[in-house]
Formats: sequence, C-alpha cells, structure tokens
Amino acid sequence: MGQSARTTKLLLDLSDRVQGGANREKRRYLEETVAVLDAARRFYLAFFPAHPEILMERVEVLAKRTGEVTLAPVSADKLLTWAEFQTVATDAHPDPRPAWNFSQAFPDFPTRYRRSVIKDCLGKARGYLTTLATWHRSGKRKGKPGVPTAANHPTLYAGTYRLEPDELDLRKSFVRLKVYTGSEWIWVPYPTCYNRYFEQRRSEEGWEQESPKLILNKQTAAIHFLQSKTITAKKVVESKRDPDLVTVAVDLNVKQLAVITARQHGRIIHTRFVSDHGLDQHRYRHLKRIAKKQWQSGRPVRGERSNQQIWHHLRRQNQDSAHKTARAIVDVCERYPGCVLVFERLRVIKPKGGSKSHRLNRKQANQLRGKINQLAKEKAYAVGIVSCETNAHGTSQYCSRCGARGERFSRKGSGCILGRGGKLFRCAACSYECHADFNASVNVHHSFWREWHWQPRKKRSN
Ligand SMILES: [Zn+2]
Repeated sequence: MGQSARTTKLLLDLSDRVQGGANREKRRYLEETVAVLDAARRFYLAFFPAHPEILMERVEVLAKRTGEVTLAPVSADKLLTWAEFQTVATDAHPDPRPAWNFSQAFPDFPTRYRRSVIKDCLGKARGYLTTLATWHRSGKRKGKPGVPTAANHPTLYAGTYRLEPDELDLRKSFVRLKVYTGSEWIWVPYPTCYNRYFEQRRSEEGWEQESPKLILNKQTAAIHFLQSKTITAKKVVESKRDPDLVTVAVDLNVKQLAVITARQHGRIIHTRFVSDHGLDQHRYRHLKRIAKKQWQSGRPVRGERSNQQIWHHLRRQNQDSAHKTARAIVDVCERYPGCVLVFERLRVIKPKGGSKSHRLNRKQANQLRGKINQLAKEKAYAVGIVSCETNAHGTSQYCSRCGARGERFSRKGSGCILGRGGKLFRCAACSYECHADFNASVNVHHSFWREWHWQPRKKRSN
C-alpha cells in the first residue's frame, strides 16, 4: 500500500485584454491576495511560537482499535478552535486578546482563507518548535533551525474558488476566485487556458482531489490541482517468487535514451528503442554557443544571470523528452500487468576531456537520465507497477548470451572500428553481435535474477 501524488496545472490567462486575457487589475488583485495572506501568516507565525506550552501540549488519546491510552499531541482541529477563540472577534465572543486581535488587524478576512492560514502556520510552528527542541537537546552549536518564513502559495479551500467550465465553448471557461483588491474581498472571474486534456486528467477515476493551490509567478499564474491515489502493489521480493513474472528492464543512454526489453520465462518477448531524435546534437550546438559567450565575457558577475533564454530552452527540452521517454517505458509496462520495472543503478558518466561544450553536454545528458529514471518510477507506480534497481556492474561489457567479456565496435563501410564508443557489441567467445545498448538492457535482466556473476577484470587475468 502506498500513495501516489500528481499535480494538474490550470493556467490562468493573464495575457492582454485584446487577446482575450484578463486585464492588469486582475493580475494586481492576485498579487494583493498573496501579499495579504502572507501578512496573515506572519501574524500567526508570531502568535503560535509565543504560546509553545499549548502548541506542544500532549494529551491522553484513546486508541479506537486497541483501547490503549497513549500521549499524543493535541489535534490540529482543536488548536485551530483555540487559536480562533484567542484572536478572532465574533458576536458570541466580541473581545479577543487585545495584543493578538486578528479581526482588527485584518477586517473582513474570509473565514476559509483564515483557516487555511492558521492550519499552515500551525504545521510550520510545530515543526519549528520540534526541531528546535531536538537541536537544544543535541547540544550542537551548528545547525540551529531557521525561523519559518511566512511566504507560501495560497491554498484554495472550497468556498474560495469556483470552477465553471463552460461545456459548450472550451475556449471560454472561467474560474472564480475570492481575491483581495487592497481594500475589500470580492469574487472575480479569471479566464483560464482550459482544455479537454486538463478535464480528462482531473476527472480520471481513482484519483482523489485535494485542495488546489494558487501559484503566482513573475509572468504566469496557475492553479495547481493536487490529486492523490492509493496504490496496492506487491513487493518485489514477493513477485520474484512467481515463475511467470515479466520483468521490464531499461538501459538509459545518450543517443538511445532508453532501450526497453521485457522478459518472461528467460526469453525476451518485447523490445523497444527510444531514440533522442537528435536532441543530443541539438543541445550540443546550443551549449557551444553558451561556452563561446562565457569565454568572451570572461568571469561571471555574481548575482547576474546569463544566457537565460538558451538555458530555459534546454531545460524545457530535457524535461519534455524525459516525460516522453518515461511514458514510453510505462507504456511497455502496462502491456504486462503485475510486471516489475528494473533499472540499473545510475552511474554518472564523468564529463572529462573534450571541449567545454562537450563537458556541459555530458552533464546535461546525465541530468536527463536521472530525470527519466525518476519520472518513469513515478508514472509506473501510479499504475501499480513497482520498480527496483540492480547492480550496474559490467552490464555493457559482457555478452548477454554467454557471459564472456566482449568488445564494442562500429561499422564503417565494409570495415569495422573497434573502440569504447562503438554502437555495436561483439562477443568473441560465441560470436554474438548486437546493438550495444540492447545487450546492456538484456544484461539488466541477468543482474536482476542474479544469473551469472561477472568476475572483475583483475581476477580474470590471473
Ligand atoms: Zn557470448
């Protein structure tokens, strides 16, 4: 049993009004809202640590299942009620503590927002006090925990937003948000970049909705819808006992981003190559430009950023191909329900030698492999497929058919060139020839099943 979480983003359309977006005022309202919520958070972050005895109080709790009485921290809901009683003026309770009068400091603050702020601060303050106490007990001088900051993305609880997807015309859907204008709280409709893919993802079965968040960046504004799903999957150790188990192994590389092979009963039943479609070379060209510019401008100025647009472009491309490759891996997995996804433990190909742009490119390629690995694991887990990592020793050097040490080479015309960078693999012992990455991918299966243990090179020569 486990949890899988994901985010679906809904962009708010804040482009110019002539292009169908929201006007500048609406953008300002969002900024005001974030600012006033941060101010409210600052208020409660001052209030809670001023009352540590109540915050950290432990009460006796009766466990429902076992009937045992244990000491546990006070529940967040009780603390919320207590905090509201101390700080908020109501008809029944008109005067809260004068030093902590929230109603006076923030008139007309919507209840839902206030509660989200209090809950948020409660967690932050408690976490801070706990780590502080641990730090005091440890007697260390270094590593004093920092005071929590007030900035956070606003959480939109029900009652502060309303999604009104217009089913007839998908280009004109609005989300209504309760925002602060600087003097009052009003409902404002915001045009969104709503589309059917968003709706598909949001209404997909099995995913539970959690409170969305408003994410306001310099240029964009978006609402992030959080979803979670409870996953039941067998452990790898249990699945390994099943003789009919399908294993899906992945070898991550630079030119062939992933070579995916599925194996059952000792036979490879499915193979898929995911090429990078020239990404490596494309990235290299951009990095060459960056390297040249850096060389021309000399020592970088501290706090200043350079080549922002190129870096942004590269990052986006990497992210995109990582998602696509991860999807391809999970697509293969989904054909064999109950299979196990096997990766080899990532080793970093150390970027050494060559030009600066070459080294930068290797670095990016390493990052991409890491991203594919991480995303594929997440995506696979969301469909109930567990993944594991195996020892990467020798997967690219030994023959996947007989286990002898082989060599890499590549063909050129009628001849062939031996070398580490070769695309193909050849085994001298059984004269088996295949694509080197395919060979490595098949070897990952051997490594998972511990079928043969390759000898380290030194021992072999003796
Ligand atoms: Zn062989």
